[in-house]
Amino acid sequence: MRNCPVDDFTLVQETYEGVTIDRCPHCHGVWLDKGELEAIQKNQADDFRGVPDDAMDFVTGAMAMAKAESEKTLSCVKCDDDLVKREYSFTSQVMIDNCPNGHGMWLDKSELSRLEKFYEEEQDFANFDEADILKAMKGGGIKGFFEKLLSRSAGF
Ligand SMILES: [Zn+2]
Ligand SMILES: [Zn+2]
Repeated sequence: MRNCPVDDFTLVQETYEGVTIDRCPHCHGVWLDKGELEAIQKNQADDFRGVPDDAMDFVTGAMAMAKAESEKTLSCVKCDDDLVKREYSFTSQVMIDNCPNGHGMWLDKSELSRLEKFYEEEQDFANFDEADILKAMKGGGIKGFFEKLLSRSAGF
């Protein structure tokens, strides 16, 4: 039995892109065992082509900032050691919580689907106007901006 590192609810197993993952029914965070994120991304690799690099750099950089701002130290669901934030190479600039003993990683609510949305909706990001982004950030801060931006994937 595994418990959520954020709120201690019991994680529920489900299949995602052909890979069995553990999801928290309360905060909807996801625990991925070692290699599972790579397996998911491998299954989706064909969808990632044609993404404009500059759009990805902006989005992932701003997302890492928003995440670092709100984050607390989490523990591994297996060994209970503190998770360590590490930049994940595939999604450059995105910081993911990793077990220092190699058990796996924790993704915040909908983060997995957000990463996919970024790739799948590259057209939307390519069309973003810098002034609109700054205006949105002034309203609710960068966190509010992303909550608004990512609301489409909230049901994931
Ligand atoms: Zn949870
Ligand atoms: Zn561990």
